[in-house]
Amino acid sequence: MRRGRVWAAGLVAAALALGGCTGGDESGFRPGAADAGDPYVPGAGNGGYDVGHYALDVRYDPAGDRLTGTATLTVTATRALSRFQLDLAGLDVERVRVDGEAAKHRHDGAELIVTPAGGLPSGRRFTVEVTYGGVPQPLPNAELGDGGFHATPDGAIALGQPESASTWYPVNDHPSDKATYDLAVTVPDGLAALSNGVPEGRTSDGGWTTWRWSERAPMASYLSTLVIGDYRVSSGTHAGKPIVTAVAAALPADGPAAASVARTGEVADFLAERFGPYPFEAYGGVVVADERIRYALETQSRPVYGPAFFRGERPNTEVVAHELAHQWFGDSVSVARWSDIWLNEGFATYAEWLWAEHDGGRTVAQTVAERYAATDWSKPTVDPGRAGMFSDAVYQRGALAVHALRRAVGDETFYRVLRGWLAQHRDGNVTTADFVGYAERTSGRPLRALLDAWLVGGTPPGLP
Ligand SMILES: [Zn+2]
Repeated sequence: MRRGRVWAAGLVAAALALGGCTGGDESGFRPGAADAGDPYVPGAGNGGYDVGHYALDVRYDPAGDRLTGTATLTVTATRALSRFQLDLAGLDVERVRVDGEAAKHRHDGAELIVTPAGGLPSGRRFTVEVTYGGVPQPLPNAELGDGGFHATPDGAIALGQPESASTWYPVNDHPSDKATYDLAVTVPDGLAALSNGVPEGRTSDGGWTTWRWSERAPMASYLSTLVIGDYRVSSGTHAGKPIVTAVAAALPADGPAAASVARTGEVADFLAERFGPYPFEAYGGVVVADERIRYALETQSRPVYGPAFFRGERPNTEVVAHELAHQWFGDSVSVARWSDIWLNEGFATYAEWLWAEHDGGRTVAQTVAERYAATDWSKPTVDPGRAGMFSDAVYQRGALAVHALRRAVGDETFYRVLRGWLAQHRDGNVTTADFVGYAERTSGRPLRALLDAWLVGGTPPGLP
């Protein structure tokens, strides 16, 4: 994510974890956990199972802001389950089936609690089909900015970090449970319906058009998106893969937004030369005109950009570089818990600096000197606290730590570490300790003290 100039400010929103029953029955089947146990997002995610695939079939009518859908999840029990929970906020559930059989369900706040007819043994693969609908609402978050489904005058935008998916489909809403996706979304003829991954064609029937998208690489749920409305859509091929970009029709056809996303392929190639092969099967980007979207987000294979980034005379490709760098750092290799978000943002910010230098802007050395001087060393990069997830300590200090590593080991080793790290953990989840260990092993040098000083030390380390 990259924030625009306007920041949300407000009181910390208190979120209470739902207390799950911890009692087991005599057969050993117990309820799945009510959240993923990540203190940065109480209530988000669930435990006791792993989702492998989401098949989403949704219909959205902008006239009444109404969404109806069927979500079919392919799931594996990771322990014996008597019941399990999904995250689903603010929509009504009509029916739940587990392996085709009716299952009892109860909706408690943002938790959908499903009790199948029989217990699910550990290791059992099963399907959950949820039929649901209603008028989706964003998740109010005064601290981090509202996330989730926003109705717009011409359609809708579903977007947000760390949570948004639960506002439009039932989900295990935590990055530790990545899954592949198929999405069919039906909207009135004439509107675009954009999402992640490979375009799988569209068909029209009776005034409605169904757009199909497929994300075949595992994706964290916050990286899923749905953008519906009046857009100028460009489709083509880049480096042998489909590229789909779209710019809101409300923005000028030849303005800085269009000119910026038009360089998506070029920026991705620049990053691939440094980080290794582009990790997904499609490229793209979507620029929305809705002023409530005050950030850009690295939604998988197709980032979504708010309008604030493109107000200048010139294109803004630095934000494109940031979001595309996340395709490697954050999307392909994802955090296991949000306290390590610098592993996404520090590297994406550093990629911005690299691109700016390459594109004739400030040099990396100039940017480093400027950001170093502005850093508050009392604020840690790792485990910055929930309110600090999108702070300078994560982005700017995190990128300075990446630069310090580069200077310590030299360019050849630095890029070997990055490429190896990304290849080894492709489609996986990681922690800061994983990164430090990997960098030490690959470089053959002790780096813990150096990285500790740059990431969490309370005093300024010497400028590299
Ligand atoms: Zn970011």
